[in-house]
Amino acid sequence: MEGDHGRPVSGERPVAWPLEALLEPVRRYWGYESLRPLQEAAIRAGLSRRDSLVVLPTGGGKSLCYQVPAELAGGTDVVVSPLISLMKDQVDALRACGYPAAALHSGVAPAEAARTLREMTAGRLRLIFVAPERLLTERFLEMAARLPVRAFAIDEAHCISQWGHDFRPEYRQLASLKRRFPEASIHAYTATATERVRADITEQLQLRDPAVLVGVFDRPNLIYRVVPRIDAHHQVSEVVRRHQGEAVIVYCLSRRETEEMAAHLAASGFQAEPYHAGLEPERRHRTQEAFSEEKLDVVCATVAFGMGIDRSDVRCVVHATMPKSIEGYQQETGRAGRDGLEAECVLFYSGADFLRWEALMQRSADEAEVAPEVRAAAVELLERMRRYCGTPLCRHRMLSEYFGQEYPAESCNACDVCLGEAEGVEDATVAAQKILSCIARTGERFGVTHIVDVLAGAQTEAVRRWRHEQQSTYALLRDTPRKLLTSMIYQLVDANLVDRTPGD
Ligand code: ADP
Repeated sequence: MEGDHGRPVSGERPVAWPLEALLEPVRRYWGYESLRPLQEAAIRAGLSRRDSLVVLPTGGGKSLCYQVPAELAGGTDVVVSPLISLMKDQVDALRACGYPAAALHSGVAPAEAARTLREMTAGRLRLIFVAPERLLTERFLEMAARLPVRAFAIDEAHCISQWGHDFRPEYRQLASLKRRFPEASIHAYTATATERVRADITEQLQLRDPAVLVGVFDRPNLIYRVVPRIDAHHQVSEVVRRHQGEAVIVYCLSRRETEEMAAHLAASGFQAEPYHAGLEPERRHRTQEAFSEEKLDVVCATVAFGMGIDRSDVRCVVHATMPKSIEGYQQETGRAGRDGLEAECVLFYSGADFLRWEALMQRSADEAEVAPEVRAAAVELLERMRRYCGTPLCRHRMLSEYFGQEYPAESCNACDVCLGEAEGVEDATVAAQKILSCIARTGERFGVTHIVDVLAGAQTEAVRRWRHEQQSTYALLRDTPRKLLTSMIYQLVDANLVDRTPGD
């Protein structure tokens, strides 16, 4: 159903594009000589205007899948993207290599937006990047219908699903696209989607007989380690020391933690900078650029860092705290070893992390009036993440199976479990709950040492007296090392899960 430029001309036979023709713009704009696995199939789906769902890991090359068909077809395709910074990076990079693209979002000045609209109407743009709320304005929709737009690429398509890790209500309205543009094809792209999320994307976007192209999730060159957190600063600097002079990303949960971690690493002699959304844009930009240009080794960041980074030799990704979903973890660890060489991913976790995330989710659900089922879905993802940390099974296998892919190898030889390093700690969340219960039962008036004594069943006079009063032995965590217990109590205090610092 396409004309010689792929434009919709009813009644004509589809054009069979030889591979050489697909490679021509790839060579011209980017200088690449070949397409990666699945890119060709995704590009062909775009050219034949067949809906598609493409799941390729971060760095897998999803952008080419919509850039090439737009160029070959010669019309203007629309890319929907959730983040202004991401759109900006992509458009800047495209323009730098001469590819005609522009973006429309709240950060574009009115004069520039007007110019973009003129260029778009004149058919001079191959791609126009828009935020979903901009796309769904009457003005934009009318213009898109007039052109007409032949394809919509939905980037970060998992945002449409409440089962996904980054649900964005504004993405839900994209469900009306198919009705509004029945002739256009819709192409959904995401790096991480479980089978449930894939089904939801297909249903929400009303994809018709989509080409479903799912890349391999396993990253054999990554070595995964999950380690109980005792002293985050000390443990993280030990890991960074193993990678002295190499690129490392340390993900922290809060802005304050990124700054404290960077300060600690800098004081320990490493080149480290914090990165989070609350920093001055200029400083953020400088840090991102220094890291990309290999002038900075370590970035301590919130999850705000990474979307636009294009450095393939990251040798280590550390999580100083447990992330809130396996999808997020997969995406963040996916930034390690993109050059295919060995890289390490270390996750430090504590039972406090789960409870802290739960409390944060509750708070943000209350503030933003999140629907109970959306909150429940987020807690379910968190629960899966917790299970990943607490289960001594091959990490490669658990990650592959989470995303619905088999992992046939007996041992990966590339995770703490298969390498025989995993420490058999009791389920960390249960341990954290036992600590909280002990603090409550001792009347919230004792210091850390006494709480540890009670939990560990120490033979001290105070513990004997308390036990006698309670008529209970109450040594709930007898087998957990005291050092770990102490650290867990402080982490619960830090996470505001214990009201008052139990001083000694
Ligand atoms: P994703 O959107 O899937 O995270 P990108 O589209 O940003 O990935 O691509 C990641 C990197 O891989 C970019 O630097 C891109 O230019 C490069 N790349 C994409 N396709 C190819 C290819 N066929 N050959 C070589 N490099 C490629």
